[in-house]
Amino acid sequence: MNRDELLQSLRFYQDLGVTDLYRASAPPEAPVLPKPEMKLSAPAPEPAVSLPPLAPSGDTLEKIQQDIGPDCRRCRLCEARSKIVFGSGNAQARLVFVGEGPGADEDAQGFPFVGRAGQLLTQMIENTASKEGIPLKRPDVYICNVVKCRPPENRTPLPDEMEICGEFLFRQLMVIQPRAICALGSTAAKALLATKDGVTRLRGRWHKWRDIPLIVTYHPSYLLRPYNQDAKREAWEDLKKALHFVYD
Ligand code: URA
Repeated sequence: MNRDELLQSLRFYQDLGVTDLYRASAPPEAPVLPKPEMKLSAPAPEPAVSLPPLAPSGDTLEKIQQDIGPDCRRCRLCEARSKIVFGSGNAQARLVFVGEGPGADEDAQGFPFVGRAGQLLTQMIENTASKEGIPLKRPDVYICNVVKCRPPENRTPLPDEMEICGEFLFRQLMVIQPRAICALGSTAAKALLATKDGVTRLRGRWHKWRDIPLIVTYHPSYLLRPYNQDAKREAWEDLKKALHFVYD
């Protein structure tokens, strides 16, 4: 992410009332400029922007899970959750899917996308891969969410919840370093691209999270609604694009 993108994303989160999602990568404080009466022989240099890595060096998925801890209480989502849903799949996956947050089935079992939306996601991945001649099964990819605890009534996660848990998502992505990321739905797209645009505007083309190509597509829960036939076709196209990009 370059400096302009970073500033744009900081502004976006500030608009949402989020103050420090990018705490770890915030530019250093501007130097105190000399008072005007002090004569300067040359214009003050631009302050250097150094972006510290978001992830500690030597980070691993195990360390991230340990840092979250067995009973994370960093945000209000801890109050109603049963299980923390960290993520599952291949730690060296070439493709990572990011959803919004656990639903009831995921909360009960502790694994992402195991309910109806998850079954559809599995079918989408495996059927598309098989039709395209790509030998790929669900355990070959990695699947996780923006927030690791189920929001009550499956509501959309709030900006501060995304901010707090986003740190762990970012570390997961930095550790796995996939060839591509597929953001499922607008919450994942917002968290990763710092945009206010919805899926319809964002889907069908490549974006980047840091240096990793990212594609946005519809969330499988949305595709389960019977009247979304066009969205289904488009989601299959997005997935085909992602699979060929990653596995060809
Ligand atoms: N929806 C999500 O966004 N994530 C899950 O894990 C399940 C349903």
